[in-house]
Amino acid sequence: MTLAELREQVLDANLDLVRKGLVLYTFGNVSGISRRDNVVIIKPSGVPYDQLQPEDLVAADLDGNVLAGDLRPSSDLPTHLVLYKAFPNIGGVAHSHSEYATSWAQARMPIPCLGTTHADYFHGPVPITHAMRDPEIADAYEENTGHVIVQEFENKNYEAVPAALVANHGPFAWGPDAKAAAHNAVILEAVARMAYFTMTINHEAQAVDRALHDKHYFRKHGRNAYYGQERELNPKEGR
Ligand SMILES: [Zn+2]
Repeated sequence: MTLAELREQVLDANLDLVRKGLVLYTFGNVSGISRRDNVVIIKPSGVPYDQLQPEDLVAADLDGNVLAGDLRPSSDLPTHLVLYKAFPNIGGVAHSHSEYATSWAQARMPIPCLGTTHADYFHGPVPITHAMRDPEIADAYEENTGHVIVQEFENKNYEAVPAALVANHGPFAWGPDAKAAAHNAVILEAVARMAYFTMTINHEAQAVDRALHDKHYFRKHGRNAYYGQERELNPKEGR
């Protein structure tokens, strides 16, 4: 993929957050990376989504130096960069303050896997980070936001659970590219919403059994997956 194509894809992924109701005003940001060129393309800071053009997106290197464009990158760029460095197989990162996922983050609760919708996408609970400590907030706050996410994955597979909740802040999701990251952010919000309703209906609702969880996850992911079509469908054709 050329950098021009990456710009188009990252723009489209950012607009997915708007189309799916995950963002208000200029909240949220999606980025994508060219691993070949070590270039990250990210939404600029504070530009309304309905005015965004591909050329407005900001290109930066992995140290956060802006390579092209005269707009400032999203202030969350350092968080994205930490994730790209720690998770070598991801190609996109999406962040929003979507209402239900953010509510779980504010409650400082992981999202338990209460059903097969969750199990299809996240092989385990969606983790919550520790509440950031004063020194983590005072200095390099956005970078430390990335580090507290990465710490949650010391013993977890970031590809099998492609999202995390930052305590008192909100969700970050990722995927093989920017579109997949936005897609996972949208699914995360749906899962968070259903989990909220489930726990409201029954405070003692239990996570699904391992067998059902594994069945749903592994029929979509990995070597023995059999869900969907062998030919990659164009995402616009639906699943
Ligand atoms: Zn945020």
